[in-house]
Amino acid sequence: MAGLKGKDILHGNQFTKKDIEAIMKVAAEFEKELKGKGALNLLKGKILATLFFEPSTRTRLSFEAAMQRLGGGVIGLGSLEGSSVAKGESLTDTARTVAQYADVIVLRHPRQGSAKEAADAVPIPVINAGDGAGQHPTQALLDIFTMRKELGTLKNLKVCLAGDLKYGRTVHALAEVLSLFGARLFFVSPAMLRMPEEITASLRGRGMEVTETEDLFQAASQCDLIYMTRIQKERFSDLGEYEKVKGSYVIDQEFLSRLKKEITIMHPLPRVDEIHPEVDGYAGAAYFRQMRNGIFIRMALLAMIFGKR
Ligand code: ASP
Repeated sequence: MAGLKGKDILHGNQFTKKDIEAIMKVAAEFEKELKGKGALNLLKGKILATLFFEPSTRTRLSFEAAMQRLGGGVIGLGSLEGSSVAKGESLTDTARTVAQYADVIVLRHPRQGSAKEAADAVPIPVINAGDGAGQHPTQALLDIFTMRKELGTLKNLKVCLAGDLKYGRTVHALAEVLSLFGARLFFVSPAMLRMPEEITASLRGRGMEVTETEDLFQAASQCDLIYMTRIQKERFSDLGEYEKVKGSYVIDQEFLSRLKKEITIMHPLPRVDEIHPEVDGYAGAAYFRQMRNGIFIRMALLAMIFGKR
């Protein structure tokens, strides 16, 4: 993709390995710099607009914090009910409006493809912070950054992506990013929630070894890392179907003691019941460190989009 300056960030497949290495390098520099200073002046005078049509805690706050740590400003709609969205304004009209006031838009929306739609409608960069069951590319970048920190390398990784692989946008983006590093992937899900066929087929087409299974224990026994995900209740049109798969997988002390080996556990959060809180103190439980890494990756992306790194 040859540099991020002025670019949209829409999909996990838009990056080259070199792009990702560059982003991680800048993120690591910001992590160091923040320890000394607390705030930088790189994006003084720039404004980031958050447009969140779905709930968010980590993505939104870490983007806002990242922009402010870089010296830039942040605007947002507050509540959708208090904006013209409540009057039925279209996403593209809303995006066009926001583009008059801001220099970059971070968008989360329930419709797959919405980020691309908004990006096509405005002259400023749009960052996809989750488009329905589609993609969540900035999460994938902070995930791979976390994997390298936790495991010391991205070479020859064996990774289990587990839970809701059908509707989980984080795993869709992460599988694309991991494919650049030659990871061996195990897709673990109930039959109803398998990874979309086009993603699996495209990974295999690029020579990746991908195993699909419903057995988390068996897959985890062969892996260095489990990337656990929440069953995406809000995507089910029939809650009866959700009831059938909820609680399919739970990582708890008992699971870990049966595994008889150290394994790294990640999760994009929020969790519901798939990782028991008793696991939080386990040395390999990386999910809280993972969310902290979000700010460094998002600082790197913003600085690079504005050509300041
Ligand atoms: N926070 C992540 C997302 O927005 C994961 C999740 O909601 O389960 O996709």
